Amino acid sequence: MYRTSGNFEAFARPLKPEGIDGRRAYFVGAGLASLSGAAFLIRDAQMPGSAITIFEELALPGGSMDGILDEHKGFIIRGGREMEAHFETLWDLFRSIPSLRTPDASVLDEMYWLHKTDPATNPRRAIHKRGEPIEQMPDLTLTPKAVEELVALALMREQDLDDKRIDEVFTEEFFASNFWLYWATMFAFEPWASALEMRRYILRFVHHVSTLADLSSLRFTYYNQYESLIRPLVSYLEGHGVTFQYDTQVDDILVTEAAGEKVATTINLTVSGQARQNRRRA
Ligand SMILES: Cc1cc2nc3c(=O)[nH]c(=O)nc-3n(C[C@H](O)[C@H](O)[C@H](O)COP(=O)(O)OP(=O)(O)OC[C@H]3O[C@@H](n4cnc5c(N)ncnc54)[C@H](O)[C@@H]3O)c2cc1C
Repeated sequence: MYRTSGNFEAFARPLKPEGIDGRRAYFVGAGLASLSGAAFLIRDAQMPGSAITIFEELALPGGSMDGILDEHKGFIIRGGREMEAHFETLWDLFRSIPSLRTPDASVLDEMYWLHKTDPATNPRRAIHKRGEPIEQMPDLTLTPKAVEELVALALMREQDLDDKRIDEVFTEEFFASNFWLYWATMFAFEPWASALEMRRYILRFVHHVSTLADLSSLRFTYYNQYESLIRPLVSYLEGHGVTFQYDTQVDDILVTEAAGEKVATTINLTVSGQARQNRRRA
């Protein structure tokens, strides 16, 4: 993947890749990864949407970003993603996806306006002892020793953390801190989890440290993420002529290799319970 820093390239449109008009693209699953990939192919690679097919084994798109309206139970969703200002790729995508709710606005515009007019904070982001407020709630209560341990983990090399658990790099003082309570509940860490993964999260989300106590750095969609992110994205893709093939499981992809080039030639599918072959140069 080609990466760059700064916004020089963020606002420029990429050149159309040579030969893109004769290509076809197939995606396995209609989760966020495939939907985003298809949208980037259309927007950035200028591939016609009609050349893109998404196979999904379920009867609906969204994958783990699900949301079903059950008339007796209300909306059923598995959970929500904690989104924040540095989801560089996600915001780059959703600046180009029209909102279904707000005319002439992108999904990103809608979220940004919501954040400006109704910023989210959580004055009681945690409680303990069956409902008692946390003492010194805004304070991370990190002792100098605990801070030292945190910095030491951040500076450690990954190869020195192989097979190490979080409770092997921190002592009791650290686990007694509000920082650990907030961090562990925000990112689903347990003391037995990987210290290497904890280090990666510290480096990735270091800018959240000052707002851990009130979660004010999180960004929210107007409705749940299925309604506000997945549905507009699917609508954008359908509007560009992308084919969604539901009840279709991808069983295998056959690849030939010649002159150093790998080419997917056949996709084996099970469509509504029936085995099928889809032969094409992808
Ligand atoms: C409760 C919860 C909370 C989360 N919180 C966060 C968070 O705070 N921050 C964050 O960044 N991420 C979070 N995530 C993770 C994030 O939602 C996922 O990483 C992302 O949605 C995964 O997208 P995906 O397209 O890679 O996979 P999926 O959403 O799993 O989609 C894969 C799709 O492919 C289909 N499929 C699979 N195999 C086949 C096949 N052989 N043929 C046809 N179809 C197939 C599946 O049915 C599915 O629809 C959370 C996830 C959950 C569930």
